[in-house]
Amino acid sequence: MTDHDLPVVAHWFDGAAAPSASGRTAPVHNPATGAVRAHVALADQADVTAALASAGRGLAEWSAFSIAKRQSVMFAFRELLNARKGELARIITAEHGKVVSDAMGEIARGQEVVELACGFPHLIKGAFSENASNGVDVYSIKQPLGIVGIISPFNFPAMVPMWFFPVALAAGNAVIVKPSEKDPSASLWLAQLWKEAGLPDGAFTVLQGDKVAVDGLLHADEVQSISFVGSTPIAQYIYETASKNGKRVQALGGAKNHMLVLPDADLDLVADSAVNAGFGAAGERCMAVSVVLAVDPVADELIAKVAERIAKLRIGDGAADAEPDMGPLISAAHRDKVSSYVDVAEADGARIVVDGRGYTVDGREDGFFFGPTLLDEVPTTSRAYTEEIFGPVLSVVRVKTYEEGLALINSGEFGNGTAIFTNDGGAARRFQNEVQVGMIGINVPIPVPVAYHSFGGWKKSLFGDAKAYGVHGFDFFTREKAVTSRWLDPATHGGINLGFPQNS
Ligand code: NAD
Repeated sequence: MTDHDLPVVAHWFDGAAAPSASGRTAPVHNPATGAVRAHVALADQADVTAALASAGRGLAEWSAFSIAKRQSVMFAFRELLNARKGELARIITAEHGKVVSDAMGEIARGQEVVELACGFPHLIKGAFSENASNGVDVYSIKQPLGIVGIISPFNFPAMVPMWFFPVALAAGNAVIVKPSEKDPSASLWLAQLWKEAGLPDGAFTVLQGDKVAVDGLLHADEVQSISFVGSTPIAQYIYETASKNGKRVQALGGAKNHMLVLPDADLDLVADSAVNAGFGAAGERCMAVSVVLAVDPVADELIAKVAERIAKLRIGDGAADAEPDMGPLISAAHRDKVSSYVDVAEADGARIVVDGRGYTVDGREDGFFFGPTLLDEVPTTSRAYTEEIFGPVLSVVRVKTYEEGLALINSGEFGNGTAIFTNDGGAARRFQNEVQVGMIGINVPIPVPVAYHSFGGWKKSLFGDAKAYGVHGFDFFTREKAVTSRWLDPATHGGINLGFPQNS
């Protein structure tokens, strides 16, 4: 097959796949084989304009649906997703590389938000105060924003868009999803599913592309809000640009998550958790644990237990019948970047306990694999400690006390997730109070909140005020009106009054 025979992953306008006006494309790889499997359209301004028109048509129809009718579409989508999610998981694995069971896990967490959103009438119903003043009632109503933009990263091509679009749609908005150009097909599959569920054409629009597509959305007057997830420098750019253009914005950025292990912790549970959270999805999770802070004297025993578990991990093609534990990284360039961080750690004096550099898989020699890597005594001044690596590299830092570990966590620029492992409830309680991080696990390694709470970090892990999903999500995707109304009682009509309104 030549490059010309490969499929082109298109936009989705007005309820159908739509070719690009730009003619620009980018290759989409299967990371397990290294082969190009498709090309994705990269939008230009004409495509952005077409996406806005599509969403505008969808908005007009969808926002006029009654709550009951909107709810029936949400439930239909949930049923279709639940019945057919295996198809979506295979698409994710083919373009992202994570193993199929992990792709199913990502979909399950997204489905939770769909299920939350099915109950939306309760969450958008506003409030009523009868007789706030004599004969005066005050009430608030929540209305959709209009067209909202969702820009997502490569690492969760289904779950991250699902953090936002079920809530945005339930609230009556039309969405334009701009997927990562590295794994763009999941969003198209979801678009088709919405169509089958009965969503009006255009209410779920997909705009494929790169910075040109993103900038088009950031500068379009029709777009009322931006929900972004990706790396910190881009999150900051999105936040600043969208805010300057008068949009509501939530921009979730990168992470460097620490696990603090106190001497009284169950070290088998800690080792299992560290391996799960450090190497699952090849470390390409914003909630991955990348640093274990081992409080004296646990480091030696813990490192031995983690190394023992690493030796048993099976690395390979995530789509293989005998499913491995861990798949490849997203691209050759990213694999090389991860590798360079291990070089940096080594040069800075870290001890390499398990070295994943140069890892190859039989029969998949061109895949973007990187073996699980365990580093000990990583200096906290090293870039390998301070920067996000986003790969299967777990660094151990030895600390003498709880206070020393806490101070390290709080000195970092990120504040996404963290975990403490201990059997001391008092220490855990102190940690949850003192740590400067948005999502905290207590003997739980990847504390992604359930759908009825909200997801978001502190510091450079979240720009903006609103987290994703939960009550934050419904607040973000609705605009409130407060109505003060007076219906005169025919018996007590008071005549003209020029005074300032007061409660009396
Ligand atoms: P990325 O920032 O490179 O890309 C994210 C999105 O921004 C993509 O859709 C991409 O097309 C677009 N983009 C890239 N460069 C741009 C530019 N210069 N201008 C405008 N748009 C641009 O991130 P990624 O590599 O796809 O994803 C990995 C990152 O996402 C990691 O840093 C990870 O921690 C982070 N992440 C964070 C969370 C969270 O909840 N905080 C969740 C998932 C991923």
